[in-house]
Amino acid sequence: MSHILIEPDQCKGCELCVNACPQQILGMTKKINSKGYFYTEVAEPMRCIGCRLCCITCPDMAITMEVHGTMYHYFGY
Ligand code: SF4
Ligand code: SF4
Repeated sequence: MSHILIEPDQCKGCELCVNACPQQILGMTKKINSKGYFYTEVAEPMRCIGCRLCCITCPDMAITMEVHGTMYHYFGY
Protein backbone atom coordinates (compact mmCIF):
# COMPACT_ATOMS: atom_id res chain seq x y z
CA MET A 1 0.00 0.00 0.00
CA SER A 2 1.18 3.50 -0.77
CA HIS A 3 0.55 6.75 0.98
CA ILE A 4 1.86 10.29 0.84
CA LEU A 5 3.65 12.31 3.47
CA ILE A 6 3.51 16.10 3.45
CA GLU A 7 6.24 18.14 5.10
CA PRO A 8 4.34 21.17 6.47
CA ASP A 9 7.34 23.49 6.65
CA GLN A 10 8.21 22.92 2.96
CA CYS A 11 4.73 23.89 1.82
CA LYS A 12 4.00 27.41 0.56
CA GLY A 13 0.25 26.93 0.29
CA CYS A 14 0.02 27.28 -3.49
CA GLU A 15 -2.72 24.62 -3.67
CA LEU A 16 -1.39 23.11 -6.91
CA CYS A 17 -1.49 19.65 -5.35
CA VAL A 18 -5.05 20.21 -4.14
CA ASN A 19 -6.16 20.89 -7.69
CA ALA A 20 -4.09 18.04 -9.15
CA CYS A 21 -5.49 15.28 -6.96
CA PRO A 22 -8.07 13.26 -8.92
CA GLN A 23 -9.55 11.96 -5.68
CA GLN A 24 -9.93 15.47 -4.26
CA ILE A 25 -8.64 14.37 -0.89
CA LEU A 26 -6.10 17.13 -0.33
CA GLY A 27 -7.02 20.36 1.40
CA MET A 28 -5.52 23.30 3.21
CA THR A 29 -5.29 23.33 6.99
CA LYS A 30 -6.21 26.34 9.06
CA LYS A 31 -2.81 26.05 10.73
CA ILE A 32 0.22 28.11 9.77
CA ASN A 33 3.69 26.66 9.23
CA SER A 34 7.05 28.14 10.19
CA LYS A 35 7.12 30.17 6.95
CA GLY A 36 3.76 31.75 7.67
CA TYR A 37 1.73 29.76 5.12
CA PHE A 38 -1.35 27.63 5.45
CA TYR A 39 -0.26 24.16 4.38
CA THR A 40 -1.76 21.07 2.78
CA GLU A 41 -2.99 17.95 4.51
CA VAL A 42 -4.61 14.71 3.39
CA ALA A 43 -8.22 14.74 4.47
CA GLU A 44 -9.00 11.12 3.56
CA PRO A 45 -5.77 9.11 3.25
CA MET A 46 -7.61 5.82 2.72
CA ARG A 47 -8.97 7.13 -0.57
CA CYS A 48 -5.49 7.82 -2.01
CA ILE A 49 -4.94 5.73 -5.16
CA GLY A 50 -1.18 6.31 -5.23
CA CYS A 51 -1.19 8.14 -8.56
CA ARG A 52 1.60 10.50 -7.39
CA LEU A 53 0.24 13.51 -9.26
CA CYS A 54 0.51 15.57 -6.09
CA CYS A 55 4.19 14.65 -5.66
CA ILE A 56 5.00 15.51 -9.26
CA THR A 57 3.00 18.74 -9.18
CA CYS A 58 4.45 20.24 -6.00
CA PRO A 59 7.10 22.81 -6.96
CA ASP A 60 8.64 22.67 -3.50
CA MET A 61 9.03 18.90 -3.14
CA ALA A 62 6.93 18.99 0.00
CA ILE A 63 5.19 15.69 -0.79
CA THR A 64 6.84 12.30 -0.57
CA MET A 65 5.38 8.95 -1.60
CA GLU A 66 5.94 5.94 0.61
CA VAL A 67 5.39 2.49 -0.93
CA HIS A 68 6.02 -0.58 1.19
CA GLY A 69 8.58 1.25 3.31
CA THR A 70 10.41 2.90 0.42
CA MET A 71 10.33 6.68 0.23
CA TYR A 72 10.13 8.31 -3.20
CA HIS A 73 11.28 11.92 -3.38
CA TYR A 74 10.30 13.42 -6.70
CA PHE A 75 12.63 15.91 -8.37
CA GLY A 76 14.76 16.04 -5.24
CA TYR A 77 17.96 16.58 -7.19
S1 SF4 B 1 -1.16 10.22 -4.81
FE1 SF4 B 1 -2.85 10.84 -6.21
S2 SF4 B 1 -4.72 10.26 -5.11
FE2 SF4 B 1 -3.07 10.24 -3.61
S3 SF4 B 1 -3.16 12.28 -2.64
FE3 SF4 B 1 -1.66 12.37 -4.33
S4 SF4 B 1 -2.82 13.10 -6.14
FE4 SF4 B 1 -4.30 12.39 -4.58
S1 SF4 C 1 1.86 21.91 -4.24
FE1 SF4 C 1 3.40 21.72 -2.59
S2 SF4 C 1 3.76 23.84 -1.93
FE2 SF4 C 1 1.84 23.84 -3.09
S3 SF4 C 1 0.22 23.53 -1.53
FE3 SF4 C 1 0.79 21.49 -2.31
S4 SF4 C 1 2.36 20.74 -0.87
FE4 SF4 C 1 2.19 22.96 -0.59
